[in-house]
Amino acid sequence: MREQNCIFCRIANGEIPSTTLYEDARFRVIFDLSPATRGHVLLIPKEHYADLTELDTETAREVLPLAARIGRAMKAGLGAAGFNLVQNNGEAAGQTVRHFHLHIIPRYGAGEELLLWKPGESTAEEREALSSRMGEYLR
Ligand code: AMP
Ligand code: ZN
Repeated sequence: MREQNCIFCRIANGEIPSTTLYEDARFRVIFDLSPATRGHVLLIPKEHYADLTELDTETAREVLPLAARIGRAMKAGLGAAGFNLVQNNGEAAGQTVRHFHLHIIPRYGAGEELLLWKPGESTAEEREALSSRMGEYLR
C-alpha cells in the first residue's frame, strides 16, 4: 500500500523529487535534508509501513544487506571511518515521519557528537522481571 498523504511514500515513489543515492524495485535511498554528518542518508521502502513492527518479512530481509552496501560505499567513497544505523519507532522514540526509514550516518571520527546514552544501572531481579513480562509475547 502507498499513502497519498505520506511524504515518504511520495518521495520513495518519485512523486516528490529528492537527491537519490540508490533506487531499486523496493527501495529508494535519499540524502537527509538535515544531515547529522556529511553523507547522512535515509533508506526508505516504496511501500508504506509505519514502522519496524509493520514491515513485511520480504522487505525486512533486504534492509540490512542494503544498509551494509551503503555503509561500504560511505567508507570507500567518502572516507568514513564507520557508520551508525538509527531507526526510530514511534513518537516517543523520536520518529517524526511515520513511514519506516533507516538512517545511515557516516562517521569520520573527529569531534562528532555521538548518538549515545548515559549508561544506567539494573539488578539481576529487575532484568528477570522485565524478561518475564515480555517473554510471553515472544513464544
Ligand atoms: P525520524 O525522526 O527518524 O522520523 O527522521 C526523519 C528524518 O527525515 C529527519 O532526519 C529529517 O531531516 C528527514 N526528512 C524529513 N523530510 C525530508 C525530505 N523531504 N527529504 C529528506 N529528508 C527529510
Ligand atoms: Zn508512506
